[in-house]
Amino acid sequence: MKGRFAPSPSGRMHLGNVYTALLSRLSAYSQGGSWLLRIEDLDPQRSRYEHARMIEDDLDWLGLAWDEGGLDDRGDAGPYSQSRRSDIYEAFLERLTATGRTYPCRCTRAEIMATQAPHQSDGRVIYGGHCRPRRLGGNAVETESDSRKAAVRLCVTDEDICFVDGVKGPQSFNLTREVGDFILRRADGAWAYQLAVVVDDALMGVTEVLRGDDLLLSAAQQIYLYRLLGFEAPRFVHVPLVCNEEGRRLSKRDAPMGMSYLRQHHTAEEVLGMAAFRVGIIREEQPLSFSELLELVSTEQSADGLFRSSGAK
Ligand code: GLU
Repeated sequence: MKGRFAPSPSGRMHLGNVYTALLSRLSAYSQGGSWLLRIEDLDPQRSRYEHARMIEDDLDWLGLAWDEGGLDDRGDAGPYSQSRRSDIYEAFLERLTATGRTYPCRCTRAEIMATQAPHQSDGRVIYGGHCRPRRLGGNAVETESDSRKAAVRLCVTDEDICFVDGVKGPQSFNLTREVGDFILRRADGAWAYQLAVVVDDALMGVTEVLRGDDLLLSAAQQIYLYRLLGFEAPRFVHVPLVCNEEGRRLSKRDAPMGMSYLRQHHTAEEVLGMAAFRVGIIREEQPLSFSELLELVSTEQSADGLFRSSGAK
C-alpha cells in the first residue's frame, strides 16, 4: 500500500495542505503502507523551487517525513518533480495518440488552467468540442495549414464513469456532460495535470490517492485515462476541504492559516492537533504528535473510516 502527497509549489503550505498531508500519511501508515512526496511543478510560471523547499521544510517541522520522493529524489521511481518528467509524459501521450482519440485544438480558452489541478472554486468550463475532428464525431476539419501551435485534447466518451470513493461512497460522472474533451498538453508545450498525475501515480506505484474533495470530478477523468493506458486505478479518497470563515477554500489570503503564521505562533503538535480536530479524529483541540495520532487511528482500517464515524468539521 502506498499513499502520496502531491503539492504544487506555487506558495507556502496552509492548514488545508497540512490536513491532507496528515490524513494521507495517517491513512497509509495505519494500513502498514508507505508515503510518497511528489512535487507538482508543471507550470513554470507558478512553480518556484524555493516553495518546494519550504514545503519540505514545513513537512519536516511537522514531523511528516516521506519515505520516497521529494526534491532529492529518494527512491527508484524518480524523478519525483514533474518538471523533470517530460520525456515520460511524451511517451504516454504517444500511446494515447495511437488509440486515435487525441486531436489538436487551437482554442485558447481554458488552456491556461490545464496544468493546474481543477479545484472546483476555480470555475471550470466544459469544452464543447469545437476542434474535434469529424472522424471522432465532431464537425471540425483538421487543417494542417493553421500555423498557430495546437494543444492536444483527449476525446471523451458518452458513458458513466463509476467508482467508489473512500469517503464519498459510490460516484458516477459522465465526462461528455461534465467536462468535455480535456487537454493533455497545452499549446505552449506544458503538460496537463490530468495526464501527469495519472502517469506518475501509476508509475510510482501509488495505490491510494487521498486529497481534497474539490478534485472528485478529476478522479473520473483520471480513471478514464487509467483505462486507456491499461493501468489499474488507485483507490480514491476525497476528504472535505478546510474552509475559511466565509466557507471558502483556504488561500494565501488567509494568513493566520498559513504555515508562516502557524509556525510563529504554535508548536508542530498544536498544528497537527488543529488539523486532527477538524477531521474529527479528536473531539477537543489538543496538541498531538504524528505517532500519537497514528495510535488513535490504528484501530480504524484507514483514516477515512474516521470521517464516517465522526463526521468532518
Ligand atoms: N498538485 C495538486 C494540488 O496541489 C494536487 C493534485 C492531486 O492530489 O491529485 O492542487
